[in-house]
Amino acid sequence: MRISDIRATTVSVPLEAPLRHSNGAHWGRFVRTVVQVETDEGIIGLGEMGGGGESAEQMFRALRPYLIGHNPFFLEELRFKIANPTASLYNNRTQVLAAIEFACLDIMGKALGVPVYQLLGGKLRDRVPFASYLFFRLPDDASGEGEVRTVDQLVEYARDLRQRCGFRSHKLKGGVFPPDYELECYQALADAFPEDTLRYDPNAALSVEEAIRFGKAIVHLNNDYLEDPTWGLNGNRRVRGMVGLPLATNTVVVNFEQLAENVLNPAVDVVLLDTTFWGGIRPCIKAAGVCETFQMSIGVHSSGELGIQLATMLHLGAVLPNLTFSADAHYHHLRDDIIAGGKFAYVDGCIEVPDGPGLGVTLDPDKFGQYAEEYKRLGGYPYDRDPARPGWFPLIPNDRWADPNEEYGRMAVKEG
Ligand SMILES: [Mg+2]
Repeated sequence: MRISDIRATTVSVPLEAPLRHSNGAHWGRFVRTVVQVETDEGIIGLGEMGGGGESAEQMFRALRPYLIGHNPFFLEELRFKIANPTASLYNNRTQVLAAIEFACLDIMGKALGVPVYQLLGGKLRDRVPFASYLFFRLPDDASGEGEVRTVDQLVEYARDLRQRCGFRSHKLKGGVFPPDYELECYQALADAFPEDTLRYDPNAALSVEEAIRFGKAIVHLNNDYLEDPTWGLNGNRRVRGMVGLPLATNTVVVNFEQLAENVLNPAVDVVLLDTTFWGGIRPCIKAAGVCETFQMSIGVHSSGELGIQLATMLHLGAVLPNLTFSADAHYHHLRDDIIAGGKFAYVDGCIEVPDGPGLGVTLDPDKFGQYAEEYKRLGGYPYDRDPARPGWFPLIPNDRWADPNEEYGRMAVKEG
């Protein structure tokens, strides 16, 4: 079997409301590039990639000469063909390789009539548990609804999600408001859900000393871990030495060199594996094996997914023996999806691992067309800018926090 063509299509799928983070925001929609890898046997494999609010179509188009004629079963060859580590100094294609790997695994599964998890060692669980992933939100531009800014709004939003989806662990995405205010929010979640677990992720926005102060203030709560409280392996190592809490990262251990450093001189306890950042599902499984050997914990990270990428996270979560924490997903913030049958459903905080051949998802042609048109209409957006604060950008460590007392109107996104 040979790859005969590759097509990339950018889609824009609406979120319930803009999601704020330490660097800016997801501006009320996810812009994702969907990849369709075709073969000479008529099988089409699906892949997906983000791109910080922008289209990645051009990067995939440029890969046509590399991929045409390649056997999709030869994934190790593909790694060196398009993401050789020394060539990548000039032209980093790790995330592109990930999307192609998803599509090739999808092709292999479809050709053999088996789900991807069977190509990866077989599933150890039928359902993958997820955390609630709570964001501070701007109001939805169309309805003016959905703001999450005050403590009460946050707790009410978490309660609603807990009821609808069954989450029993809650991740607060912080790094937006001053640390003392976010501490108040975190404590309020702990008070509201005493039997659930919590995790806090300010995306490395805090100084080392502020992170230590925050960590010591929550150490008595029912925490899973403290995620990227500050920037850098050395910064996190200092925090870890001063706070009696497990630390997690999806920013400073995202490749095998960094993983080796973290084994030799530990800075974090939990490595959050992202099927895009690591270059595919298979590198995540390799990294999980290293973590298993050295008894470091793992999680499944979310970089903002539609159903295709969510399927990669589910197949990954299904085959990892040492997955002891619930996974992260932005998925419940989406209003819709491009896959046939509609959005995956949460039951008791879990999503069922798809059992169909390949990744187990197919495109809904109407939705796919509709959201491709939506991208043409709206275009991309800068993920690292806050539509509510034109001209603003953060420092690392940050001190330019948003004001929790300031309300933003529904036109904030357009004006940004
Ligand atoms: Mg994170």
